[in-house]
Amino acid sequence: MQVVETISEVRRIRREGQGSWGLVPTMGYLHRGHAALVEQARKENDHVGVSIFVNPTQFGPTEDLAAYPRNLERDLALLAEAGADLVWTPPVEEVYPAGFQTYVTVEDVTKVLEGAARPTHFRGVATVVAKLFNVFQPDRAYFGQKDAQQVVVIRQMARDLNFPLEIVVCPIVREADGLALSSRNVYLTPEQRAAAPVLYRALCAARDAWQAGEHDGERLRGILRRVLTAEPLAQPHYVSAADPRTLAELGDASRGVLLSMAVRVGKARLIDNILLA
Ligand code: AMP
Repeated sequence: MQVVETISEVRRIRREGQGSWGLVPTMGYLHRGHAALVEQARKENDHVGVSIFVNPTQFGPTEDLAAYPRNLERDLALLAEAGADLVWTPPVEEVYPAGFQTYVTVEDVTKVLEGAARPTHFRGVATVVAKLFNVFQPDRAYFGQKDAQQVVVIRQMARDLNFPLEIVVCPIVREADGLALSSRNVYLTPEQRAAAPVLYRALCAARDAWQAGEHDGERLRGILRRVLTAEPLAQPHYVSAADPRTLAELGDASRGVLLSMAVRVGKARLIDNILLA
């Protein structure tokens, strides 16, 4: 496994690696969810590239950029074990040199849900992912369903800007009690950690209702809200029952629905979702 910092080294190694390349973009502090993406990329490509970059442009001014957890040594051990060939760990100036002024803005699908709460977030995500696609030129790029709106935004960008690659989406990896793995779970105190599975319980309650024939979007959002508000340590930011492609809130959810939510538990803003089709 080669670990490099500069774009020119990534390009050189990419050129020398004959055959197909899979790319897994990450912000580090890796866990089994990230490892699952690397393992999937390993199965489907001759070479696997991973980026570790805490991307400043996707954090808002009051968000946790400076506090975002980091542990490069542990990340590299996990990636070697999972089968990565190339890891790019650029310093901020390598990605955003002085004078940088070009951004990628995806329109409608970034205005709702996470984008409504975090107005500059997806501009930062789309910009850095476009740069990663240009630097690695992968045949396939791997993303987690955990960040459901991110997947919709990146698919839209790849289609609109004609990136010649396949976007592969991998299932959410969870703890035994249902909490979705996240680098931000480290912010939870033991008491908050015990409360955090309420997100998944709420999603499961709405999923069960949908499967039993409850296809009214407002009533599905009501179920999510009810389960969440029963947990005093959970402060819901939004609950959603949306069209999986447009992300518009649904009245009639009979043709499929993305159930999703953002919930503050202590210092952590947790997101989770279930896709029903
Ligand atoms: P991050 O490091 O949080 O930017 O995440 C990097 C990639 O890993 C994104 O595509 C995430 O959706 C994905 N990911 C994060 N957590 C999970 C999880 N629990 N299960 C599956 N994928 C995940």
